[in-house]
Amino acid sequence: MAKMYYEQDGSLQYFEGKRVAVIGYGSQGHAHALNLKESGVNVVVGLYEGSKSKEKAENDGLQVLPVAEAVKGSDVVMVLVPDEKQGKLYKEAIEPNLEEGNALAFAHGFNIHFSQIVPPAYVDVFMVAPKGPGHLVRRLYTEGCAVPALFAVYQDYTGNARELALAYAKGIGSTRAGVLETTFKEETETDLFGEQAVLCGGATELIKAGFDTLVEAGYQPEVAYFECLHELKLIVDLLYEGGLERMRYSVSDTAEYGDYMVGKRIITEETRKEMKKVLQEIQRGQFAKNWILENMSNRAEFNAIKRQELEHPIVEVGKKLRSMMPWLKK
Ligand code: NDP
Ligand code: MG
Ligand code: MG
Repeated sequence: MAKMYYEQDGSLQYFEGKRVAVIGYGSQGHAHALNLKESGVNVVVGLYEGSKSKEKAENDGLQVLPVAEAVKGSDVVMVLVPDEKQGKLYKEAIEPNLEEGNALAFAHGFNIHFSQIVPPAYVDVFMVAPKGPGHLVRRLYTEGCAVPALFAVYQDYTGNARELALAYAKGIGSTRAGVLETTFKEETETDLFGEQAVLCGGATELIKAGFDTLVEAGYQPEVAYFECLHELKLIVDLLYEGGLERMRYSVSDTAEYGDYMVGKRIITEETRKEMKKVLQEIQRGQFAKNWILENMSNRAEFNAIKRQELEHPIVEVGKKLRSMMPWLKK
């Protein structure tokens, strides 16, 4: 079993006399900056001129500086702008202002692992990657709980990079739930695989395939929506709370029998073979290269598919049904 690290394993002393620059104030940025601040860490937020997030950060009581200025006076620089924008911002505003012994930090390993950012030898490079969306990282912190996280050291110049990473994880609250040591390679490859094969790509295609099958067979789209999309949350909640066994305990025996009989006919040997191929494409940098080129071409394919996906009938039905459930958050 992997070793987990908890509250007693991280010390906020590492931040004494230091300043942390959180670059970006989006999903992760706002959560890191506010949680660190409330943990007693000296934080500034780095944003570009005209950023929409600036007012929000200032209203939350944080000091906001242009990225170069924020990096200049700071000891730790956490880069929380979208992954595809990090390379350019790093070259222009971060690298020129890094000093010997500073630490460069990330919440996802993509840019380091796929060489879009090549840091100088005289800084520490670490990662603290919460395993959950930023808004949950923030909300759970205020409730005294936390989202678990992974941490990793890519480069240890000072000899303290690992302690600093654990201190950072403590500052954002994650040591309350447990943090697990990984590498930039492992975090990057498993994160991409998870979102492509299971969490996003796998789940959305499974939902649409189920919905289409019912609708094409003449069932009402509203019924198909509830069955194949809406109810998934109730199942996922059970999985989250108690694993596969809790979900199977809670559903009817009929549902459990259907699960055992049919699951393997849907996720077949062929699907598993394809998953292995997807993983290899990630490991060989093929996915990363395509995504980088896609961004350089103004997302021609991304935008076209996004438009097509919005034309799927499940979008229209879902809108109508959700508008009658005002308790669902906007
Ligand atoms: P968001 O898209 O939510 O936030 C981006 C922020 O960066 C915004 O505040 C934006 O400002 C700002 N920004 C954009 N461009 C620049 C720039 N050139 N200079 C300065 N600031 C800029 O990002 P996420 O929080 O989703 O992602 C950040 C990192 O966290 C990524 O590495 C991602 O992989 C990782 N991560 C994200 C998770 C998540 O929950 N979303 C989960 C775990 C890791 P404005 O809005 O004003 O343009
Ligand atoms: Mg990801
Ligand atoms: Mg049912």
